[in-house]
Amino acid sequence: MSQQASEETYQHYIGGEWTEGRGDETFESVDPSNQEVLGEFHRGTEEDVDAALAAAKEAEDEWADLSYIDRAEYLWDVYHELKDRTDELGEIVTKECGKEISEGKADVVEAAHMVEWAAGNARHPHGDVVPSEIGSKDAYMRRKPRGVIGCITPWNFPVAIPFWHMALALVEGNTVVWKPAEQTPWCGQIIAEMMVDAGIPEGVFNMVQGFGDAGNAIVEDDRVDTVLFTGSSEVGHKIAGKVGGEPGKLAACEMGGKNGIVVTENADLDIAVHSAVMSSFKTTGQRCVSSERLIVHEDVYDEFKERYVELAQSVSVGDPLDEDTFMGPMVNEEQVEKFGKYNDLAREEGANVLVDREELDADEIPEGHEDGYWVGPFVYEIDYDTDLRCLQEEVFGPHVALVKYSGDMDRAMEIHNDTPYGLAGAVISEDYRQVNQFRDEAELGLAYGNLPCIGAEVQLPFGGVKKSGNGYPSAREAIEAVTERTAWTVNN
Ligand code: GLU
Repeated sequence: MSQQASEETYQHYIGGEWTEGRGDETFESVDPSNQEVLGEFHRGTEEDVDAALAAAKEAEDEWADLSYIDRAEYLWDVYHELKDRTDELGEIVTKECGKEISEGKADVVEAAHMVEWAAGNARHPHGDVVPSEIGSKDAYMRRKPRGVIGCITPWNFPVAIPFWHMALALVEGNTVVWKPAEQTPWCGQIIAEMMVDAGIPEGVFNMVQGFGDAGNAIVEDDRVDTVLFTGSSEVGHKIAGKVGGEPGKLAACEMGGKNGIVVTENADLDIAVHSAVMSSFKTTGQRCVSSERLIVHEDVYDEFKERYVELAQSVSVGDPLDEDTFMGPMVNEEQVEKFGKYNDLAREEGANVLVDREELDADEIPEGHEDGYWVGPFVYEIDYDTDLRCLQEEVFGPHVALVKYSGDMDRAMEIHNDTPYGLAGAVISEDYRQVNQFRDEAELGLAYGNLPCIGAEVQLPFGGVKKSGNGYPSAREAIEAVTERTAWTVNN
């Protein structure tokens, strides 16, 4: 697919063929910075998912019979494509989901890292040899592919996250049916083209473009052995609930967060301000790891507030393809509305608003982009109370609460842990005891010390506790959700 808007209506990739599928409907990919239509796509139906699953099921045994190393060879081709085309694909990511260009490229780089990890893993040990209680016995843990993996991925990392799901799934010997996010089908198209160019055998990789009905058809079908989902808590909890009750089937769900950064009285404020700005405004606050709560000790509160507010006031919002832009647009109208509603809620709950760029001034909007989904930071201070919804619920936007605390780290941890979520968070402190206390007590899957709480690396598990996940982290740990572990004991 070229980088120009095209007359073609893009298709699904099912059973080794590009196909329009059974449905009559199409949908558009839209550039959120100006509402320009980027491409038209066939909308997948339950019948299309059915055909994709039939193909995946049929291809299962032959793919599983290949060696790990042979399977990984296909992925190495994809890895080189990702590396060679990082700039071009980064621009496409930026055009389609609105995140600024350095982040667009970073998305592709992260995808390459994940593929590198998964393909490289093919040459690593895949089980354990363990001692047996009886001298003549050998005992092993071995891994086997689970079978057919259904992947449902979000728009905010439209290249990286699909590979978090699919790279290990494929190398480990599973076949895949993937539904890209409906907001980023163009990225889906390009990934599918890469898989096709790499020569992955018919039926092993299938892509159905579409919406929640297609996703649901993947989740509900008995031929799917594992569902890998990254996205909203609402959808993730439904998936985990549905799949959890079915014996033999598994769902690994990666969901949202209400992530906090604790800035203690011993913080280096340069690090604190930088970490907070990056964590709350990058990707326009639309990462599941974005920070919407800054929990700051009273001794450093005023200085931190002054410096953070000054940056939030001046952070550049603009054309995401422009290298000087810090924040691009939000992804769509729905997100803008949600952001506005939560800003109102914070006001109702007693917020003292410090930065209100909810609606940008006309001169802040780049020329030719008047129809974009523009917002700027919304920052407020509020007294901590466990009943405040604005401190509990995820907004998924540049909506940030400053909460002042007094006392010791126990108090900071109490406030920090007081959300239903447990995805990411950070502590900023020069006192190693405080850093260690955060590491030990933060109810999180991803905890950072003296760093922003964004920017996870694929060679670590990526996932959350509490409402943020269901116990199956992704990135390198996706191996647990896409393989079965069998115990093999043999008498010599
Ligand atoms: N990989 C991203 C990061 O750590 C987060 C992914 C997400 O927000 O879904 O910043």
